Amino acid sequence: MSCVKLTVLSGKGGTGKTTVSVNMALSLSNIQLLDADVEEPNCKYFIGTDFDKEEKINRKVPEVDQEKCTACRKCVDFCEYNALAMMIDEVLVFPEICHSCGGCKRICPVNAITEVDRELGNLKRGVNKYDIDFWQGELNIGEESSVPVIEELKEKTNPNKNVIIDAQPGTTCPTIEAAADSDYCILVTEPTPFGLSDLKLASELMDELKIPHGVIINRAEEDSDYIIEDFCEKKNINILLKIPFIRDFAHLYSDGIPFVIDYPEWKDEFKKVFKEIRGVLDEKDNGN
Ligand code: SF4
Ligand code: SF4
Repeated sequence: MSCVKLTVLSGKGGTGKTTVSVNMALSLSNIQLLDADVEEPNCKYFIGTDFDKEEKINRKVPEVDQEKCTACRKCVDFCEYNALAMMIDEVLVFPEICHSCGGCKRICPVNAITEVDRELGNLKRGVNKYDIDFWQGELNIGEESSVPVIEELKEKTNPNKNVIIDAQPGTTCPTIEAAADSDYCILVTEPTPFGLSDLKLASELMDELKIPHGVIINRAEEDSDYIIEDFCEKKNINILLKIPFIRDFAHLYSDGIPFVIDYPEWKDEFKKVFKEIRGVLDEKDNGN
């Protein structure tokens, strides 16, 4: 196998997903980092990025010509996202929740609906002192559809680099879109009952998507009850790395400094993780 596409995800926010993505990106060579946590992209704060390129992402939303509209309600009844409503005899459009399926336009018997562009978000290319090939997606405030932004972001994937995608937390459509077609996923969790509960959901998602995956436990020494380890053992999930709670790591995080910068020996740990992942993927390629 040549280059590898990894997605880093977690069942919920605040578990250390971005910490893992950024520190791993800084530990490996020939890396592209894509920040697909489009509602709150924050890798940029840790790699000190300036942006030298921006691309707007538009999508089509309906516009109703009230002169032509006969108030038949067909479009309102058709829209399963409730992005259209009838107010007396006028159709109201709620573009924030429209999924741009185009169905209402097709169904209108009098061609009263046209489609107009609406800006959904943007993609930004970052230049940084670490020379990481970096792109981030950003969803505009008030918009609800992250998926088209993530789709466009993934179009930036460089096939000649090992790609790390920092996904949106959770197990819903934006996370699925980020993880789909990845070679391997890293599930970041913390050793608490909440962490375990979210890890279970994330692991079920991986099983459904049939993506090989392993776990990184953040603040690992708090797992005195071994709840994450027990779960991983039962499900035969590899624990790739345990990052202990180190007060200085927390300070560095709050200063926006990836901990491998001050503790370069940790780069070797991430290199080992990557080597292990490659081993799993090579075995898979060889049909074992
Ligand atoms: S384009 Fe689709 S989602 Fe948007 S308003 Fe029309 S039917 Fe609803
Ligand atoms: S389907 Fe067309 S004519 Fe009917 S309510 Fe919608 S916009 Fe008006």
